[in-house]
Amino acid sequence: MALENDIELKELIRKAALLNAVSHDGNAQAGAMVGKILGDRADLRTKVKELSGIINAVVNEVNSLSAAEQKTIVEENWPETQKKEKAEEKRLSPLPNADKYAQIVTRFSPNPDCVLHLGSARAIILSHEYARMYNGKFILRFEDTDPKIKRPSLVFYDSIRQDLKWLGCKVDEEYIQSDRLPIYYEYTERLMREGNAYVCECPTEEFRKKIIAKGPCPCRILSATENLVRWNRMLGGGYSEGQAVVRVKTDLENPNPAVRDWPALRVIDTKKYPHPRVGSKYIVWPLYNLAAGLDDHLMGMTHIIRGKEHFTNMVRQKYMYEHLGWKYPEAIHYGRLKITGTFLSKSKIIQGVKEGIYTGFDDPRLGTFAALRKRGITPEAIKKMIIDVGTKSNDVTLSWENLYSYNRKILDATSNRYFFVPEPVELTVLQVPQTFLAKLPLHPEKPERGFREYTVTPESAEKAVRFWISRKDAEALEPEKVIRLMELFNVEALGKKGNQITAAFTSESYEDVRKLKVQLIQWIQKGEEFPCQVVMPDASITEGFAESACKKLKPDAIIQFERFGFARINEVNQKLIAYYTHK
Ligand SMILES: [Zn+2]
Repeated sequence: MALENDIELKELIRKAALLNAVSHDGNAQAGAMVGKILGDRADLRTKVKELSGIINAVVNEVNSLSAAEQKTIVEENWPETQKKEKAEEKRLSPLPNADKYAQIVTRFSPNPDCVLHLGSARAIILSHEYARMYNGKFILRFEDTDPKIKRPSLVFYDSIRQDLKWLGCKVDEEYIQSDRLPIYYEYTERLMREGNAYVCECPTEEFRKKIIAKGPCPCRILSATENLVRWNRMLGGGYSEGQAVVRVKTDLENPNPAVRDWPALRVIDTKKYPHPRVGSKYIVWPLYNLAAGLDDHLMGMTHIIRGKEHFTNMVRQKYMYEHLGWKYPEAIHYGRLKITGTFLSKSKIIQGVKEGIYTGFDDPRLGTFAALRKRGITPEAIKKMIIDVGTKSNDVTLSWENLYSYNRKILDATSNRYFFVPEPVELTVLQVPQTFLAKLPLHPEKPERGFREYTVTPESAEKAVRFWISRKDAEALEPEKVIRLMELFNVEALGKKGNQITAAFTSESYEDVRKLKVQLIQWIQKGEEFPCQVVMPDASITEGFAESACKKLKPDAIIQFERFGFARINEVNQKLIAYYTHK
């Protein structure tokens, strides 16, 4: 029977695809499903190609459904699978007062002035996970209201969207603050009309002296009408940069002077510093607390999940919420997450790329998501690490090795194995008695994935076979030492002559050498080599040969070079270019 007509099989695939989609934010991954189906139906191992075709068709069909539709189908047909899923998701501690809200709404709100890096992972993943955990809404809000100092750049809006997609964070709504200036103006006017904000013309230093002494500046006591006159003058270009600032009134007795009558909007000379999206259209721009504070309410945020460095901003914004008669969202302030080792600030990243110190935003030395992606760090590993850390308010320090260990657990199961011989040295094995067929499994525990096969045939009267082995292995190969060429046969070293090593065949069976604990080394038969460059995390390059089966690899595949490490394939052309992931 053609697989196409196997209804039972199709139903099995449909179930697997729906379950996969539900646990991957609505996008089933066809690649992950072949192995799963073969696990249930060993009889199909000879029909993998045909099977893949059917899986692709079913996956396309399932992915065209909305995430909500997928979830409904799964919950109705296989409720038992969902309990487990939920138990896993619930590993984050519950949100405070979640039951008071009809729908949980969270947000991630970056300034598009740089690419995202690991430092943002906590804000993104926690906010997104909580939205999903409560079937809520996750908002992406670009906070691009500083055209002068923290100047946004068009390319970063897109790279941020891509990073979120890569991280598996589905954005339900997107806003860009530079589209919303009329809204900020409207609420500023209302604050002013109601006597809760004023236009301050005082030089910074004079204002500072007054406010430290808990006293009002002369502008604070002006009438609403007088303030509105100043406000219109501000909008009309009657003040230049630094001559006027709108302040929101607070309690002047607040113990923190930096909270008292905080600045809310200022003048920016956009003729000189045009905004990348709206150019010189506006000269009055909101500062962080006004724009973010208003938006959080207007966008229906129920829970704000962010670093504790924002605590004072909450104190500031709460005064504005009181003026407007609004309730401040639930706020969770988590501690700093530090990653030891090279971890750069946004400005250093941008400067380094500009000056050519880094090859780009995805330079392997950087902690940007683009670099991590290029190196083969999976979003699942990042997500798992962040969820394990949770929302603790104490600072947490992690090392790159922590992240690698999460990633290794994922890659170990998913990556196929290949041979890579760094710094190749020639090894001639004599007295090979016959032709051998080397059958190298793509994955030691998953024979269903298949094998790489090489025929090893001795030549000439010496019955010689020539191989490439790594310099390191060659250097350790003293005369009379026995080693095993992995999955092939055992050899005993005879001698070295310059860059050439000679050895003799001893036996085929691994049992013969198991007790001797001999080294098993990777090898490539001469003629089966494929030039390969591995870009290391420090941006240095390790040159060598990959086995010829690697010619069939596709860019983005993450593989394991045995005894070398995991690597992500970047390019397959005249040579293989891979990025080193980790051991
Ligand atoms: Zn003033």
